[in-house]
Amino acid sequence: MKKFETNAIRTQAEQSSNREHSVPLYLTSSFTFEDAEQMRAMFADEQDGNIYSRFTNPNTSEFIDKMCVLEGAEAGFATATGMAAVFASFMALLKSGDHILSSSSIFGSTHTVLTKFLPKWGISCSYADVNKPETWESLINENTKMIFVETPSNPGLDIIDLQWLGNLAGKHKVILNVDNCFATPFIQRPIEFGAHLVTHSGTKYLDGQGRVMGGIVVGKKELIKEIHTFCRSTGPALSPFNAWTLSKSLETLAIRMERHSQNAHKLAGLLENHPEVVQVRYPFLLSHPQFEIAKRQMSMGGGIVSFEIKGGVERGRRFLDALQMCSLTANLGDTRTIATHPASTTHSKLTAEERLSVGITPGLVRISAGLENIIDIVADIEQALERSK
Ligand SMILES: *Cc1c(COP(=O)(O)O)cnc(C)c1O
Repeated sequence: MKKFETNAIRTQAEQSSNREHSVPLYLTSSFTFEDAEQMRAMFADEQDGNIYSRFTNPNTSEFIDKMCVLEGAEAGFATATGMAAVFASFMALLKSGDHILSSSSIFGSTHTVLTKFLPKWGISCSYADVNKPETWESLINENTKMIFVETPSNPGLDIIDLQWLGNLAGKHKVILNVDNCFATPFIQRPIEFGAHLVTHSGTKYLDGQGRVMGGIVVGKKELIKEIHTFCRSTGPALSPFNAWTLSKSLETLAIRMERHSQNAHKLAGLLENHPEVVQVRYPFLLSHPQFEIAKRQMSMGGGIVSFEIKGGVERGRRFLDALQMCSLTANLGDTRTIATHPASTTHSKLTAEERLSVGITPGLVRISAGLENIIDIVADIEQALERSK
């Protein structure tokens, strides 16, 4: 078994007769058949091969194969966005009457799907408190089919013990689906702890350069088969161009994640001792409430730091306005350092009360540490803390 970096680089689509070194872009909506018999056999699933790019395409297959190797998964399906992956995993595997257990600390759009849409189709959801693991088991009932969590969570950076949750899901025979966006498989591999599915937004660190949207679900073959059937018919497929970009990006995932983590860790340490900062959240800081768990299941702390600035909502906005280099944008996991204010952006669709229940305080600032030199990142954040007083 080769190492992570090697697999991320050397897992490639089959070479064409041109013997190219870098995999070409297969911009084709459909594929031809040798004869009527081959066409029949492929449609009947008796023979593997590409039929139509809504189903499979060599570029999307390469991205999927790579992600399967990196996550240690049997199979996968790639989608146009991360939310399409989240949604497809719910729609393909749940039915009316089923129950899903999620956590109070979850991405804004996922929260919207769980609260506003799934109930319309008779699928109920409970939200467990990440800080009270002892309460989770009592929320599982005979209709519970899936546990869906994020760790570290967006934007709260809460950590859930994957070994413990894997055991709980196994005991109750429930599908464990983990959104692994923040850690990426370089830092954390949920399948090793018992997860059946791992969901990603490719838009974040997998691309890592703020260029393309994408998503993927990988995991158990029999579950992916259902997701594949659902997606093949309903059409959220990833475009070949975006798949090609994502597959190329994965070649540098390891070195990018190392530097993102190093920069974020340094920044977190500095913010923790800053007089204008009330509190800092970073999984690998001793002060993080789940520091021990983070150390057990993650190889490094990742690239996201959040902090509560003194002075609440107004100060938070003044801080963003005072930044000179860091970008104000809704994305994360880019080469460029990004600052956001979740209360007025990603979680603005939630009520103030809902926001507080998922840990989003008015002055919470989320920093996605980029790959610029840490000296320049720190200088910009320090001057903005000073100027926004
Ligand atoms: C961004 C994000 C998603 C959604 O991904 P898109 O590609 O934007 O659809 C899902 N989960 C987490 C944790 C995210 O950060």
